[in-house]
Amino acid sequence: MRCKRCEQEIAKGEFCRRCLVKVVERRVRKDIRLKAGINKGTKILVMDPLSAYFAGNLLPAVEIVRKSASSFGIRQWDSYVYKNSALNDFLNRKGIDIAFAPLPMETGPDHYLECLFSGKKPSQPAQGKIFPLFSHVSADELELFCRSKKLTFPRFGGYSLGFLDRMEKSYPGTKASLAKAVKQQNIK
Ligand SMILES: [Zn+2]
Repeated sequence: MRCKRCEQEIAKGEFCRRCLVKVVERRVRKDIRLKAGINKGTKILVMDPLSAYFAGNLLPAVEIVRKSASSFGIRQWDSYVYKNSALNDFLNRKGIDIAFAPLPMETGPDHYLECLFSGKKPSQPAQGKIFPLFSHVSADELELFCRSKKLTFPRFGGYSLGFLDRMEKSYPGTKASLAKAVKQQNIK
């Protein structure tokens, strides 16, 4: 198997460790540029080391506010962060423009499947201030990224991550197509 970017021989995955870091940074940078609406002086809340890394390294001219996820009662990262009222109140009260949430590509599909199997209504974001930082990066890719950068890997609250992983193994591309389908229905 060869790295898709530099053609170096690799044991598994699509990219070698060094290229993966570059690919992840490029995808996140692109997402931020196209969708986050960040300008000079934008006030950004970061709640975990991984989001802090991206806010600090990819966006030089912003104002970064740091507060721990646990202070909003967030113990794991999943779609319920959009509905977190302590967090939404804090963003409004402090005039913060955007909060980075370290949610991987699987988050939307995961939430969709959870709702499908349990008969719950998918949660819609209360407002557009909570930005999923890793819409185009899988949990596996993030784990490797964190290992390379010596950053703490966020704890995901995935209901069906194991299920999605098994699907992906049997049918490569499942996660990406499900993520796309779910996005079209505006489920986050
Ligand atoms: Zn490579």
